Amino acid sequence: CQKCLSLIKKTKFLNAYITVSEEVALKQAEESEKRYKKGHSLGDLDGIPVAVKDNFSTSSIETTCASNMLKGYVPPYNATVVQKLLDKGAVLMGKTNLDEFAMGSGSTDGVFGPVKNPWSYSKQYREKRKQKAHGENEDSNWLITGGSSGGSAAAVAAFTCFAALGSDTGGSTRNPAAHCGVVGFKPSYGLVSRHGLIPLVNSMDVPGILTRCVDDAAIVLGMLAGHDPKDSTTIQDPVKPFTLPTFADVNKLCIGIPKEYLAPELSSEVRSFWSKAANLFESEGAKVIEVSLPHTSYSIVCYHVLCTSEVASNMARFDGLEYGHRCDINVSTEAMYAATRREGFNDVVRGRILSGNFFLLKENYENYFIKAQKVRRLIANDFVNVFNSGVDVLLTPTTLSEAVPYLEFIKEDNRTRSAQDDIFTQAVNMAGFLSCLQDCQQ
Ligand code: GLN
Repeated sequence: CQKCLSLIKKTKFLNAYITVSEEVALKQAEESEKRYKKGHSLGDLDGIPVAVKDNFSTSSIETTCASNMLKGYVPPYNATVVQKLLDKGAVLMGKTNLDEFAMGSGSTDGVFGPVKNPWSYSKQYREKRKQKAHGENEDSNWLITGGSSGGSAAAVAAFTCFAALGSDTGGSTRNPAAHCGVVGFKPSYGLVSRHGLIPLVNSMDVPGILTRCVDDAAIVLGMLAGHDPKDSTTIQDPVKPFTLPTFADVNKLCIGIPKEYLAPELSSEVRSFWSKAANLFESEGAKVIEVSLPHTSYSIVCYHVLCTSEVASNMARFDGLEYGHRCDINVSTEAMYAATRREGFNDVVRGRILSGNFFLLKENYENYFIKAQKVRRLIANDFVNVFNSGVDVLLTPTTLSEAVPYLEFIKEDNRTRSAQDDIFTQAVNMAGFLSCLQDCQQ
C-alpha cells in the first residue's frame, strides 16, 4: 500500500486520480496487517490496493464524475461493487479521473483536466517522438489514455494499484485498457450490480474491471458478480466462479471474425495485430471463420440516439436542489435550474442533453427513439445469430488505432472521430448479452 501511495505521488503528473484517499488506504492496510498477524482468516483481496473510477459512489469520499456539478458531493453510501471489494479486504487508494459523467473516449473532457498515458513516458515513445518532432516541446504531445475510464487504466498501468473499477457504456473500460496496455473487462449487462454507479445510459451501463493480467480480472469478476437486491436488472441465478484453467485449450474453439469490422479507418498496425492474433489461434487448433454482423453500420448512430435520450432523462436529477452544485441566482426556480446546469455541465454533457430532448419530443419520439430501439434489437439479433451458428467467441480489435497524441485528439474533428472509435465496442453494450451468458453457464 505504501509503495503504491508513493507511486501515486511520483506519477501525479499523469492526472490519473481525482482524489487520493491516503488516510483511508493506510488505515485499511493497517487493519489488514493486524488481521494477518493475528492469524484471522483473510479476505481474497486483503491488503490489495485498488482504485475506483470517480463515477462510483463512495461513502465519505467525494464523488465528482469529473464535473463541476458534483464537486464537493460526498455520497452517503458505497456502490455495491465498491462495498464488495472492501468486504474482501481491498485497500481503496482513491478515485480515478474520467471524461465528465463518462461521456467520451479520451479522458480529456473532465473538469480536472486530461489523463496522460503512462506509455508516453516510455523510452521507446520518447525516442520515436524525438525523431519525429524536431524542436517541439517534448512534453506537449503525450498520448491520450482513451476513455472514459482513462484514470483507472493509467492507475493500473502505472502500478499504483492492482485493479481498478471502470464503467462501460459503449467501450469506456475496454478502450482505455487497450490504449494503456492493461486488461479491460466488460461484464455482460446484469452480471454485476450498477447500484451506486452514477448512470450514463441505464440500459447499457456496466461496471468494468481493469487489471494487469486476465487472471486478476477473473478473480475480481468472481467477487463482484451476482444478484443485488438493490439493482433489479442483476441476474437471479447464482454465478459460478470464474477461475481460469492453467492451460487454456483452444483446440476446436470456433472464433468468428466479423467482416463488417474491417473498417476503412482501421489503422494498418491494428489490422496486422488482429490477423496475427487470429493466426496464433489457428495455429493452436482453433477454427477461425468469417462471420457477418450486418447491422454494424447503424450501431454508432443508433447508440447516439439511445444514449442521448437516456442522458436527457438521467441528467434531470441535477437541478441544483438535491446534489452538488447550486448557483447563486434566486429570482425563480427555473432560472436557478438553468444557471446551475449551465455552470455545472460542460459542452459535451449539455449537447447530449439537448440532443436527447430533441429525440424525445412528441413529434420525434416515434421517428428517432422508437426506431433506434428497433435497430438496437436488430443489432442484438446479429450477435445471437452468430453465436447460435456455432461460433464460440468473436475476435475483434478494440479501437481503430493505437493511442493518439493529445494535440491530435483534441483537434476540431475529434468528436466525430472519437465517436467512430467506438465502432468495435458499442454494439455489444446495446446487445447486453445476458441471455447468451445464461445459455453458456448452462
Ligand atoms: N464513448 C462513448 C460515449 O461517449 C462511451 C462512453 C462510455 O462507455 N462511458 O458515450
